[in-house]
Amino acid sequence: MSSTSQFSTLYSAEQIQKKVKDLGAKITKDFKGKAPEMLCILKGASFFYADLIREINLPLSCNFFGISSYSGTKSTGNIKITLDLISSVKDKDIIVVEDIVDTGLSLEFIIDYLKSKKAKSIKVVSLLYKPGQIKVKNINVDYYAFELTNQFVIGYGLDYNEAWRELPFIAQMNSLN
Ligand code: 5GP
Repeated sequence: MSSTSQFSTLYSAEQIQKKVKDLGAKITKDFKGKAPEMLCILKGASFFYADLIREINLPLSCNFFGISSYSGTKSTGNIKITLDLISSVKDKDIIVVEDIVDTGLSLEFIIDYLKSKKAKSIKVVSLLYKPGQIKVKNINVDYYAFELTNQFVIGYGLDYNEAWRELPFIAQMNSLN
């Protein structure tokens, strides 16, 4: 773990784990009788994903999809697939696991892609959600842990130019170079 005055903690590891447990319980209840496929959006959601799926008491399966759209602290809107779906989503109940929904452009891209691959149903769980930043219509974030305004955050999987993902807490950057 690293520590620096470059950032200040917003949500502690304990606060995060409590929310993750609650989300896992909600998803377990809502998907009773189903066997959803949990789709991890790489890289940012990987820590959240690993914790969340262990709090879901269902016969689930795992899948992975990599995209990138950010440079520094800005969403470029120029979305690239960095890793295609590991396995087919056809006829499956997919739960997309995101790190953060900001403009919603990435999520819109992911949902369109999953529809084109004939997923049976698509729900979304995001660790963080910035509702004031949304630029797209008809995007539904079904579950989320914490709501943010427009601050840029790092830690628990989220990076600043690939740094700080390993922090066990979520922090706000104080100074950005
Ligand atoms: P969107 O397409 O919704 O604008 O952005 C989604 C992606 O941008 C996220 O998956 C994440 O990688 C990145 N992102 C958006 N806001 C933040 C933030 O506050 N911190 C970090 N580290 N990444 C962010």
